[in-house]
Amino acid sequence: MKRSLAIVTGGSTGIGKHLVGALARAGYAVAFSYRTSPDAARATAAALEQEGLPVLAMQCDVGVKADVERFAAEAVVWAGIAPQLLVNNAGIQTWSPLLDLPEERWDDVIRTNLKGCFLNTQVIGGMMAAAGRGGAIVNIGSGCNKLAFPNLVDYTASKGGIEQFTKSAAVELGQYGIRVNGVAPGAIITDRTAEEAPDYAATWAPITPLGRVGTPEDVAGAVLFFASEAARFVTGQTLWVDGGVFSRA
Ligand code: NDP
Repeated sequence: MKRSLAIVTGGSTGIGKHLVGALARAGYAVAFSYRTSPDAARATAAALEQEGLPVLAMQCDVGVKADVERFAAEAVVWAGIAPQLLVNNAGIQTWSPLLDLPEERWDDVIRTNLKGCFLNTQVIGGMMAAAGRGGAIVNIGSGCNKLAFPNLVDYTASKGGIEQFTKSAAVELGQYGIRVNGVAPGAIITDRTAEEAPDYAATWAPITPLGRVGTPEDVAGAVLFFASEAARFVTGQTLWVDGGVFSRA
């Protein structure tokens, strides 16, 4: 039997890399995109291939429609089947006071995080609709949506947009049997967050009700739920995977 095709954006590092592994081990043929890290992408794919798991890594800027169309078309040829799952994970983030935020930076964050989610949903969701077998789309937002976050206006605007996009897309795509849900991670320890802030875990764990920072595996659990039959009547929802930290406000 053919494996179902799952497409993950931004699978070369961090949460996306673990999502690719979790989905491959759950039985999907996984195609993932990356933008600037070919070595990391190759390493992610090679590790899974060693486990005998089929994975395709492709350079594709999520904010460029021609890239997304090319990536999606190659993924379908590679897997020999239309996509059943899309995880919009690719995202970028840097900190800057609003009054100093360069316009180009704003554009890049909105283009990658929000437009990328739209383009992949349009192209890959369109393939799901045409195939007529339904599907699931999971958008990775951010737990920070529940609070105001100074020095992060571009990022929080993009992630707030994703939450609203998830609700509206769910209503539109329901007629095709496509469910659209969101996962909003809290503080998740990855190579990036650990490098940016060596005290990341020490800062977040004490203020998190569950007493620790999250892991990419915690995020993967929520994605697997939304992808599964157990969530067959769930759409338009965003699940906070944050150990309770953003419920404290
Ligand atoms: P990383 O920086 O580790 O990974 C980001 C991934 O996105 C990389 O694979 C990167 O590829 C890819 N990417 C970035 N821009 C593009 C683009 N234009 N086109 C294609 N791929 C792109 O981040 P995280 O793993 O931490 O974050 C993953 C997601 O989770 C993001 O959406 C983030 O906002 C969200 N999130 C993370 C939290 C955390 O604590 N880590 C908390 C809340 C939300 P490449 O390196 O090749 O450019």
